[in-house]
Amino acid sequence: MSMKCPSCKKSTLEEKHVKQTQVKVDTCTECKGVWFDEAELEGIMSVAAQKLAVPSKARATSRRCPRCPQALYEFTYPQTMATVDMCKACGGLWLDGGELREIRNLRQNLKIAGKLKEGGALSGLMGAWHRLVDSALGR
Ligand SMILES: [Zn+2]
Ligand SMILES: [Zn+2]
Repeated sequence: MSMKCPSCKKSTLEEKHVKQTQVKVDTCTECKGVWFDEAELEGIMSVAAQKLAVPSKARATSRRCPRCPQALYEFTYPQTMATVDMCKACGGLWLDGGELREIRNLRQNLKIAGKLKEGGALSGLMGAWHRLVDSALGR
C-alpha cells in the first residue's frame, strides 16, 4: 500500500529501516518528514514521550493521515518547541524534516538535567541509576 506524504501530498512515503532496531518507518524523500505508527517512536527513542495522545486542545489541520482518511491534529510535542501532527484514529505521528532530531536533542538535554517528565516510568532507585548511566554516557 502506498502512503501519501501529509505535507507534500503528491509524494509517496518510502519505507526506511532504522539503524540498530527492527523498526521500519515511512519517510518522504522530498521534505524529509517521517511517519511513525502508534508507539513506534517510543520503541526507538528512549527519551520519547510515553503514551503520547492528541491533547483535547489540539487543532485539526488540512493534512491527512497517510493511513486513514482522517485529518491530522497539530500540537506541541511535550517539553519541546516542535509542532507535530498526530492521527486520533490510528495514533500515528508525523514529524516534519529535522523535528525528530530537535525533539531528541532537547529531551535528551532535559533528561541529563533531570528535568524530563517521563510519566513516572522511571522512578526511585531505578530512575536514579538510569540518570547516572545517561549522564555518564552523555558527556
Ligand atoms: Zn513530503
Ligand atoms: Zn490514522
